Amino acid sequence: MGSGLTTTAGKSVLSGINFPADNVRALLDTMDRAVVVASRDGQVLMVNGRAKRCLEEQGKHNLTTLNIFEEVLNVRPQEISKRIESGENDIEIAGRNGSKSFQARLRWIPESDWIAIQFANEVIQKEENGSVQPTVQELLQEREITYRNLLAAYLKLQEVNRQKTVFLASAAHELKTPLAVIKGYYDLLLSNSLGKLTDKQKDILEESKESCERLVRLVSMFLNYSALESGKLVLQLRENDLRDCLEEMAGRWSEAFKRKGVKLDAQLDPSIPTFKFDYQKVQQAAANLLDNALKHTPTGGTVTLRAKPHFWERRVAEIAPVEERRRFRLPRPNSVEVSVTDSGSGIAPEHHQEIFEDFVRVDRNTSGMGLGLAIAKRLIQAHRGKIWVESEYQRGSTFAFLLPMDQS
Ligand code: ADP
Repeated sequence: MGSGLTTTAGKSVLSGINFPADNVRALLDTMDRAVVVASRDGQVLMVNGRAKRCLEEQGKHNLTTLNIFEEVLNVRPQEISKRIESGENDIEIAGRNGSKSFQARLRWIPESDWIAIQFANEVIQKEENGSVQPTVQELLQEREITYRNLLAAYLKLQEVNRQKTVFLASAAHELKTPLAVIKGYYDLLLSNSLGKLTDKQKDILEESKESCERLVRLVSMFLNYSALESGKLVLQLRENDLRDCLEEMAGRWSEAFKRKGVKLDAQLDPSIPTFKFDYQKVQQAAANLLDNALKHTPTGGTVTLRAKPHFWERRVAEIAPVEERRRFRLPRPNSVEVSVTDSGSGIAPEHHQEIFEDFVRVDRNTSGMGLGLAIAKRLIQAHRGKIWVESEYQRGSTFAFLLPMDQS
């Protein structure tokens, strides 16, 4: 058959249809796109001149045995059938065939159960130009496809990551109750209620209890992290006294400091006014800093917890108009600076940024999950504050954060 309407079996496949084959041939040949008509399983029933030439140039001479879906569109016939049965009767397929990209539109013709395939920008144009350079439009389409694929993969990864966090959080949650029971029994034994303990027994139990407490801290650290990760960070902003908040927290740590022989000094400026902040969350952020300071300070060292009013220039520029600044004769404190200074091992400058990232740990000799600072950072940033470190290796560290007093 020539360049007109071609049937794969050499006879008119239109015999069962109520319109003359010549009319269809004329119609298909007027189209400036390559058109192939196939059965549901991909067998070629007819092609127009453009499609025939193009297929032949690709070495596909025997159209009777060609499966257009599998060998040209790289898609399984079952896949096409599935999409048709789910109600799609206009299907777009884009992809590559060897070094060439193509875009095809498949239309299902219910009366005959055929599929008409129209190629948009496929091999034909390139073959006719004799050029294998992709056109700008093709490159854009390809980029669009890559972008969509990447986006889909990214969303899938995010979902898998979320599921992993949820799973770990529920596992961590399950550990909480048994750990509380174990700790309760340690307290009971150490109080001598179940009989007097020898000094040796007491030492062993004290040490076991400390390990248990460390485990409790790790579990609750992870639970806090997973709660923040799942987007559940809602601040309970109330008018609170920051000195009460920090004193209460430091009180809870005093026993652990005593046990290690590290001095804990609290210098909380009495002029700090009450202001709105989330009591628990600020306590948690400061406790993470205190926990680290204790871990990294050797026996005989000192840790100082400070809080003082602070004038934060950047926040003024953000919120107060020039006139207001003049009227109040700023600088006057608009935030509070809280800091924890230790005489411990210090941190080399190249690690100052990364230690605030999730799961980053520098010192492998101490216990932890690399989450304490990442959690503190999230909590402080939720208050529109900032957190940073100043430290020199082997010369101690100061971790500090600023809390704006104008929370709303
Ligand atoms: P973790 O303490 O669980 O390792 P953090 O996020 O609290 O996780 O800290 C991250 C890393 O920062 C620690 O592994 C440690 O190397 C370093 N670091 C934090 N605080 C101090 C500190 N006060 N002194 C020395 N190194 C510290």
